[in-house]
Amino acid sequence: MRLGILGGGQLGRMLALAGANLGVATHVLDPTPGGPAAQVATAETVAAYDDLAALDAFAATVDVVTYEFENVPADTVRHLAERVPVQPGAAALETAQDRLLEKRFARDLAIPTAPFVPVDGPGDLVTALAEIGTPAILKTRRFGYDGKGQTRIEAAEPAAAEAAWHDIGRAPALLEGLVRFEREISVIAARDSKGGIACYDPVENVHRHHILHTSTAPAALAPEVAVRAREIAGLLLDGLDYVGVMGIELFHLADGGLLLNEIAPRVHNSGHWTIEGAETSQFEQHVRAVTGLPLGPTTSLGRAEMTNLIGDDVATVPALLAEPGAHVHLYGKAEVRPGRKMGHVTRVRRE
Ligand code: AMP
Repeated sequence: MRLGILGGGQLGRMLALAGANLGVATHVLDPTPGGPAAQVATAETVAAYDDLAALDAFAATVDVVTYEFENVPADTVRHLAERVPVQPGAAALETAQDRLLEKRFARDLAIPTAPFVPVDGPGDLVTALAEIGTPAILKTRRFGYDGKGQTRIEAAEPAAAEAAWHDIGRAPALLEGLVRFEREISVIAARDSKGGIACYDPVENVHRHHILHTSTAPAALAPEVAVRAREIAGLLLDGLDYVGVMGIELFHLADGGLLLNEIAPRVHNSGHWTIEGAETSQFEQHVRAVTGLPLGPTTSLGRAEMTNLIGDDVATVPALLAEPGAHVHLYGKAEVRPGRKMGHVTRVRRE
C-alpha cells in the first residue's frame, strides 16, 4: 500500500513515521524540498500544488492520497481525485476551508456555534455589529490559522469597523460574538470507509499568543459533557461521509454547554499526546482509516500532557531528554523562528 501526502510539515512527518510502522510507503508532495515529512518519507516530489503534470505523476505512484493541512487548494484535490482516491474527500476539505460553510454545516446538524453573521464589506460590518453586539471577533472566511486573519472589535463604531476590516485584509469574513467560555476542548475522532467511528477522550487545550501551548488528556469534564463532545464528533464525521482523522475544537461553557469552534480535516496538534498516551496514535489511526485498514482502539493509557516546543523552546530539549518519562519529538526544521512549532514533548502519568 502506498500513501500520498500533500504537505510536508510535521503532521506529514508523523503520518509518514506511522505509515512506515504499518508497512505503508509514503510519498510526500510539497513545494519546498527536504522538509519535516520528506526527511522520513519513502519518496518526495517537490512541486507546486497547481503543477498538473507533477500531480499526475504523483497520483500514478500511490494508491490513496491524503493531506496534512487544510489550505491545500481544493482544485488540487479535485484534480487528484479524478485519478486516485483522496481521503478525507473534497466535501470535507471545502467545508473546513470556509468558516461560513463550516458554521452553516454545524447549524444544519443542530450543533451550536457562536452567533455569526457573514460580512463582505465595511458597511456589512456595521450592520453585523449591531446584530451581534460587542465585543466580537471578525474572522476571514478562508486561510486563517493560529489567530491569523482575525481581529477583536470592542466598539460598534464605524471607525472600529473600518479598522477591523483593514486588519483582516479586506477579505470575505464573518463576525462572531465573543464566547465567554470556561475552557477550550477538542475531540480527535476517526471514521473508516464503512462508517465505523472511533473517538479519543476529549482534551483540554491552552493557547499562548494564539498558538496551542498544552493539551491535557483526558479533559476534566462531567461525564455527560464528554458524551456530548463525542456525539458532536459523530454527527460531523457522518455528515461529511468522512474517512480519516478529524480534529474538532469546541468551547466548553460554564453551564456545561458545548459550542463548535472549528474542524480540521486532518490529524491535529491537540492529538499528539495519543502517540504515547493512547492505544493507537492519531497518526496510525489516520493511516489505517485512509488505507482501508481496521481502526485501532482509542483508549487512553493514563493522564497525558503534551506541550508544544515553540521557537526558542527547543533550547530546553537537553533538559527534557534528561527527564524520565518526557517523550520528545523534534520535527527536523532547520531554522528556529519565533512562533514556529519546532517539536513537542508528552508526559504520561499511568494510572
Ligand atoms: P480560531 O482560529 O477560530 O480557532 O480562533 C483561535 C482562538 O481564538 C480560539 O482557539 C479561541 O481561543 C479564540 N476564539 C475564536 N473565536 C472565538 C469566539 N467566538 N469567542 C471567544 N474566543 C474565540
